[in-house]
Amino acid sequence: MAKIQTPQPVRGTQDIFGEDQERFQHVIETFERVRRLYGFKGVEMPVFEPTAVFARSLGETTDVVSKEMYSFEDRGGDSLTLRPEFTAGICRAFLSNGWQQHVPLKLAAHGPLFRYERPQKGRYRQFHQLDAEIIGAGEAAADVELLCFADQLLKELGIDDGVTLQLNTLGDAESRDAWREALVEHFQAHKAELSEDSQDRLERNPLRILDSKERQDRSIADAAPDIDAYLSTEAKEFFAQVTEGLDACGVAWVRNSRLVRGLDYYRHTAFEFVTDRLGAQGTVLAGGRYDGLMESLGGPHTPAVGWAAGIERLGMLLDEPVVAGPDAIFIPLGDGCEAAAMKLMGELRRSGITCDMAYKGNMKKRMQKANAAGAAHVVIIGENELANGVAAVKNLATGDQREIVLGGLAEALTA
Ligand code: ATP
Ligand code: MG
Repeated sequence: MAKIQTPQPVRGTQDIFGEDQERFQHVIETFERVRRLYGFKGVEMPVFEPTAVFARSLGETTDVVSKEMYSFEDRGGDSLTLRPEFTAGICRAFLSNGWQQHVPLKLAAHGPLFRYERPQKGRYRQFHQLDAEIIGAGEAAADVELLCFADQLLKELGIDDGVTLQLNTLGDAESRDAWREALVEHFQAHKAELSEDSQDRLERNPLRILDSKERQDRSIADAAPDIDAYLSTEAKEFFAQVTEGLDACGVAWVRNSRLVRGLDYYRHTAFEFVTDRLGAQGTVLAGGRYDGLMESLGGPHTPAVGWAAGIERLGMLLDEPVVAGPDAIFIPLGDGCEAAAMKLMGELRRSGITCDMAYKGNMKKRMQKANAAGAAHVVIIGENELANGVAAVKNLATGDQREIVLGGLAEALTA
């Protein structure tokens, strides 16, 4: 019989298991807790959308739309795209469902996203994001609150050390257009020295040359004009309100006048939380204000601001271990003891005590399993113990072993 080949995973996908999964889950649980503190409502979004949702809002010239989307025709002939980001889909949902009545609407989502990229550490084709949006708020206070949320999240994850909030303004449409013109003029003068990619960007998306990672582009990008000289009075005032708000809340930030966001719809505030620990994949959380997006989807003018963070990248920064072992591992020894242990564990689990059973192998093997699981106690139930209505409880940290009446187990295991 021909040997059947084992299927390979799709390039750039991950099977997240063990400690990686614990880290992943810890990031999500922390996000869910902190977003409630800030009054963000959860939202569950479709994984695919009509292709136009992304093509129109992100802009045809962006890397995501031009090179990275997973688009396909479904059996009915409609062009669909696996979501490469949350924001555009959330805005589509806002318009489809008439969520205008809820503004300002604070939403939080998390889940998988898909981009056809070159896979490497911290960069995948299916990756996962946390996402936070405030829709229908044009005030700088919304930017400040959103950044406070991000800052607290990173602090609660314990990964704020070595992470810097870089902040920039892209001005309003008028400021941005004037700046763009000055940038094109500057880059045009140095066109021959630019990398091939950046020469291409000069036509399509000149702002992106500013944050090019190509070495030959750096000195030209660094010498390019800042937006400051082109900011309208309103845009300047808005940025001042954001920075003053952050200072008042004790959120540290630095100005990075080279910071632009990859997507066309950004206005005013743009920001990234960047770590020095993940090499080229150092941006862990990024976002900004996107006042023009709803209109690009045919909706009414609706100012909004949001961010997204890579769950895998946050997970990689966490200190280990992120989860404690179980409160107890049960070791049943003898006839009827397994069933008795299972019943006892059920009672304990119902009162919030984490436990598991080691039922395979000799005593030594089972003790090894308990130690490897990081259990706080082992509970040994043999036929004699069972007959006397007791169990032997060993504290694995101290080595101390005591006989406990079964009714007192919950107390003994949480003491
Ligand atoms: P990068 O410059 O790293 O490509 P980006 O500007 O494309 O990032 P955003 O669209 O702003 O990223 O997404 C927000 C966050 O999502 C990023 O800061 C990063 O943490 C994460 N992220 C983006 N693309 C990937 C990917 N392919 N794999 C893993 N995480 C990603
Ligand atoms: Mg990218």
